Amino acid sequence: MNFPGADALPQTPLLVVDKAALLRNLDRMQALCDAAGVRLRAHGKTHKCSTLGRLIVERGAVGLCAQTVGEAEAFVAGGITDILVTAAPPPWAAPRLAALARSGARIGVTADDAGQIDRLSDAAVAAGTLLDLVVDLDLGTHRTGAYPHEALALARAADASPGLRFAGIQAYLGHLQHLDDGALRRSADEAAFATLKTLVAELTAAGLPPPVVTGGGTGTHAFDLASGVFTELQAGSYGVMDVEYDACGAPGGGDWPFEPSLFIAASVVSARHKSHVVVDAGFKAVSMDGPPARMVSGAAPGSLWRPMGDEHGMIAHPAMIDVLKAAGRDPLGFDRAVSAADADPARAFPPDVPKVGDIVWLQPGHCDPTINLYDALHVWDGAVLQRWAVDGRRISR
Ligand code: PLP
Ligand code: MN
Repeated sequence: MNFPGADALPQTPLLVVDKAALLRNLDRMQALCDAAGVRLRAHGKTHKCSTLGRLIVERGAVGLCAQTVGEAEAFVAGGITDILVTAAPPPWAAPRLAALARSGARIGVTADDAGQIDRLSDAAVAAGTLLDLVVDLDLGTHRTGAYPHEALALARAADASPGLRFAGIQAYLGHLQHLDDGALRRSADEAAFATLKTLVAELTAAGLPPPVVTGGGTGTHAFDLASGVFTELQAGSYGVMDVEYDACGAPGGGDWPFEPSLFIAASVVSARHKSHVVVDAGFKAVSMDGPPARMVSGAAPGSLWRPMGDEHGMIAHPAMIDVLKAAGRDPLGFDRAVSAADADPARAFPPDVPKVGDIVWLQPGHCDPTINLYDALHVWDGAVLQRWAVDGRRISR
């Protein structure tokens, strides 16, 4: 994108969204879903931002998914009226979800055991409302979800519960989303579709056809949309993308139909070393559960960002990376600041190192947990920087 200059930015580190790229991503996914005849229920866990959620719904999505009750509450407060909570809620969350349904929103919730179903029904009855119950299935991720052979009993329990409507089944295949082996990603996804189709037939024969079959993610979206079994797609990362998704490649090969739209602006705060400069983005500005953030602009091409502590990160200069490697030093290890090349008085500073106050732009390694570190997305349309609150970010889930 045409990044805003330092004078257009408030303080750093700042999370900046390229609005045009974001909107292109939203439109592309909506068009893919429309073409496949699958409803889009985009996952709000990625952005936790009701302003962005409203844009997704205005463009044709049926509603949003939420992973936490706090996200669901923020989305309802922000005007989203149809939400599916895709993670089994802890016991204390049931009354909060019932209260949301009572307020007029359509609230679906997933469950994978009979105790959860009873608890959710009791909470809905106590609130004088109904919750949609989606039976969560485990088709290999081994996080939440019942085994397929348990689904019918859970669907019957939901159907018989006074506070619930049996609303369908969920199969989220998280373990497949980032598989580098594209053929395996496809074949494993397709094996899951076969299981799902058998299950849909079984439920239908038992008089409980699932109104909704929901699942899918950015990493498998093309397969999910072609499966013929999903009625809703719950992908989330596609709107902003990240290094992890760029690295594993699009489902089916070829280019991603989605572009990176999420960036971190970091300020250079120290430029004393020949090997690297130091920016104000460290562990507290960049989630490190995925690959490291990628330097995209503001420093020499090939520069690498690495965390240097909670509030600091390094931007290692490519020339110095090579020098240090040749000298057998780990340029990104903890001896980097006093490296041999750095201490050599005969060696000049590289000509193109950023200066204190310069902005360096990074692409997050993993979008969702990085956004979770910020109060707001700052959305850049080429002229104006708008602030969209990350209002679904709550201390209590
Ligand atoms: N559905 C569930 C249950 C998830 O946990 C996630 C992400 O972790 C998604 C959908 C969205 O996946 P992605 O962000 O990879 O599109
Ligand atoms: Mn993620």
